[in-house]
Amino acid sequence: CGIIGYLGNHEAAPFLVEALKRLEYRGYDSAGIATVQDGHLDRRRAVGKLVNLSDELVHAPLAGKSGIGHTRWATHGSPTAVNAHPHRVGKVAVVHNGIIENFRELRAELAEAGLVPETETDTETVAMLTAQYVAEGLSPQEAVARTLPRLEGAFALLFLFDGEDDLMIAARKGSPLAIGHGTGENYVGSDALALAPLTDRITYLEEGDWAVVTRESVTIYDAAGQIANRPVKQVTLDN
Ligand code: GLU
Repeated sequence: CGIIGYLGNHEAAPFLVEALKRLEYRGYDSAGIATVQDGHLDRRRAVGKLVNLSDELVHAPLAGKSGIGHTRWATHGSPTAVNAHPHRVGKVAVVHNGIIENFRELRAELAEAGLVPETETDTETVAMLTAQYVAEGLSPQEAVARTLPRLEGAFALLFLFDGEDDLMIAARKGSPLAIGHGTGENYVGSDALALAPLTDRITYLEEGDWAVVTRESVTIYDAAGQIANRPVKQVTLDN
């Protein structure tokens, strides 16, 4: 129900948990984060309040200066730790707001290739598809570009990749997503409130847009794959 992403020069985990707290007002049943540390993608998830995720992180810390986080409001699959986001398949981790309407069809197709889901969620099929494309040799960017046109429904998505310390890919269709511009850091959030304490320079993705984000750059593409120039807005929120 809430999404946050961080590519910066500080530890991502405490940063992500703090940002998820600012999204708690939306309601959620579970939460999780993933980070990349020296090229190694890993994740932690917990059912219930964010404090449970924080406790989990005390027992099993997650290092890394890039990461994605999610609070889930379950639509497909019960609110369990296994169904909590981020979902990970192969080199790909994904967080998602919304519903992938054609996930059953995609699952059936993936099953023919021998790929079996580990969760009950619609979201995992996105990770499965993208991971399959990466396994076939596509770059993360190419794999996401191949995945997005196959998804029906509403989504805000944020991808993180094993082996990529300086990359997040965000995509928006039917669910809002904003990019926050920092100095040597960039952020992604499902609403400007999540980003408000970090930066007042925000770009809203438009319908069908997707963005390749590094610490130093944000490149936005439209649904046709053309580079799109979206304005950077000065946003001040009373917070
Ligand atoms: N449909 C997804 C799920 O049930 C995402 C729900 C959300 O927006 O939090 O896992």
